[in-house]
Amino acid sequence: GNTAPHNGSHGESADASPLTSKWKSDLYQSIDERYRVVKELVGSEKDLSQTCIELLKGTNLTGRGGAGFPTGLKWELVTKEQAETKYVICNADESEPGTFKDREIIRHAPHLIIEGMLLAGLTIGAESGIIYIRHEYGPEEAILKQALEDAYKQGLLGENAAESGKRFEVEVFTSPGGYILGEETALLEALEDKRGEPRNKPPYPGQFGLWGKPTLINNVETFAVAPSIIGNGPQWWADQGIGEFEGVKFVCISGDVKSPGVFEVPMGTTFATVIEMAGGVRDNKSVKAFLPGGASSLFLKPEFLETPIDFPAVKKVGSMLGTGAIMIFDEDRNLYDIATNITRFFRNESCGKCVPCRVGSEKGVAILESVFNGEYAASQLQVLDELHETLEETSICGLGQVALAPVISMLKQFPEEIPSHGN
Ligand code: NAD
Ligand code: SF4
Repeated sequence: GNTAPHNGSHGESADASPLTSKWKSDLYQSIDERYRVVKELVGSEKDLSQTCIELLKGTNLTGRGGAGFPTGLKWELVTKEQAETKYVICNADESEPGTFKDREIIRHAPHLIIEGMLLAGLTIGAESGIIYIRHEYGPEEAILKQALEDAYKQGLLGENAAESGKRFEVEVFTSPGGYILGEETALLEALEDKRGEPRNKPPYPGQFGLWGKPTLINNVETFAVAPSIIGNGPQWWADQGIGEFEGVKFVCISGDVKSPGVFEVPMGTTFATVIEMAGGVRDNKSVKAFLPGGASSLFLKPEFLETPIDFPAVKKVGSMLGTGAIMIFDEDRNLYDIATNITRFFRNESCGKCVPCRVGSEKGVAILESVFNGEYAASQLQVLDELHETLEETSICGLGQVALAPVISMLKQFPEEIPSHGN
């Protein structure tokens, strides 16, 4: 097998790998072997672009950055844009609290990300790709740079990328830093050396992206799974899931479990099973609540732990799978405190471009803290509903739109957590 080099700086054993499914056999082929397969694919397909789009559209693969937009459709939309210059960008600015799956993918399979970007470039008609990486991911950046060097040496990238007769180059760009810079349009502004604030959408980057050119932006995990789907076909992908559920998903589990970490699981695996994979709840306590998809998702009661991991299934029970960051809170946790802290995070990370987000997130935290300290009556919390509605309707980007959603979901479902102070 062939794994990327590690520096082990995160205290984990160098060979510990979260990649556990059948997909592993694809991942651990030697790089020579993988690149031979990709070159064969590129060389044998008369219409590679159409084939890639059809194969991706033949699956239900949706964007792994958290929003879940259909990947095949995104590739198709950018392909249809008429422009001489187009770009492919891999969003590796992983920053959603509780989310650390892309870091593991980069560590263990950087070559798959490069292959995914190459196939995307040849599909949409782009000659350059950029991996936009979180500034704190130094060791992973080094791994990517080494993998890029190997890919150039092997002819996968360059003037005649994978013997396609077309040029495709990839470079790494380090994010200047900040949660909001991972928002795809703020990321574009940062790449253009402007202040990293989100743009109004639409137009989406697929039409008006980097330097105004059509730009395909996908998450690390999306690019990493694309080559295996294109190489093995939609039926193979469907077969990776459990029952009616298709494909695999990288999930990160943290909070009150014995062994937090990243696991690659078949879609349809339950949250309860992932808790077991993480060694169970710490100190054998019971679960009071969990977040299924990072800090932007909504709190769920333990009765939903048997929900299958899948985008529509989690939506059906009132939350979202988002980045697949599962956070477990045990019976002794103060959910009011936790949800207030999440709101503080969004307040701190608001870029300040829109007034409702800048002022509203501050106001939300002030109300929550005042009720906690007993300065306001708990009835004041009702104001948060109206505040949330305003933020949802008037914020430019997802941060403002969801800033108050997690705390409101907690207040509604766990009213017993609200501090009473006798009022
Ligand atoms: P979004 O729904 O606006 O867009 C999702 C993607 O689909 C984007 O690439 C967008 O360009 C594209 N898109 C949407 N509608 C389109 C259309 N009509 N035509 C063409 N393309 C279209 O969501 P978003 O604001 O980009 O992302 C929100 C999500 O980000 C949240 O759900 C959250 O889970 C996630 N998130 C992830 C991280 C992380 O570290 N991975 C951090 C914060 C938030
Ligand atoms: Fe910035 Fe908040 Fe507006 Fe997003 S919603 S652009 S984070 S102020």
